[in-house]
Amino acid sequence: MNKIAVFCGSSKGFNTIYANEAILVGNYFADNNISLIYGGGKIGMMGIIADTILKKNGEVIGVIPELLRHEEVAHKEITKMILTKKMSKRKVVISKLADGYIALAGGFGTLDELFEALTLGQLGIENKPIGILNTNNFFDFTLKQLDVMVEEGFLKIENRDMLLVANTIEELIFKMTNYTAPKLGKVVNTVVNK
Ligand code: AMP
Repeated sequence: MNKIAVFCGSSKGFNTIYANEAILVGNYFADNNISLIYGGGKIGMMGIIADTILKKNGEVIGVIPELLRHEEVAHKEITKMILTKKMSKRKVVISKLADGYIALAGGFGTLDELFEALTLGQLGIENKPIGILNTNNFFDFTLKQLDVMVEEGFLKIENRDMLLVANTIEELIFKMTNYTAPKLGKVVNTVVNK
């Protein structure tokens, strides 16, 4: 994996444990020549990971919609910034560039991006590895929700298992490198008679 998209908070949280994790991930990317694909912001966890990589002369590619670019949030010093017309187009560009996805602690935006990636995997539109770094057990309740979905018959266990979970970036990259996407069930095309 040479290019990984990271979804993470535009805030850095109250506990410094999250910012420290973003630094560890940034250093790992730079030391292992992994390019960062991300939302292009200079704030919060996003800014911390980008700055860490840039300090070590690593590659950082931002993908930002026009509407966010004019706010004070766009990072000006990254290797390359790709502008998209809409938020939805940004996700398409990120998915074209990335070999896999990682989510760190974040809010709505992070979960939106994570679940979109999982949905594409579930439909077999993509088969890239998707992982979360469960720093400070941040995602425990999200994982619990997935278990409830399985128990209640709304999510297949093999699709739930697409989401790789680890406590360190080293362990997560190992799991992502060895990931095989689940085989899709037979798709039945139903013709509806009018
Ligand atoms: P959130 O988790 O709600 O803080 O949103 C962060 C995620 O959504 C990031 O992974 C970004 O791709 C995207 N995002 C949200 N806000 C911004 C922003 N101001 N600038 C760039 N990307 C953002």
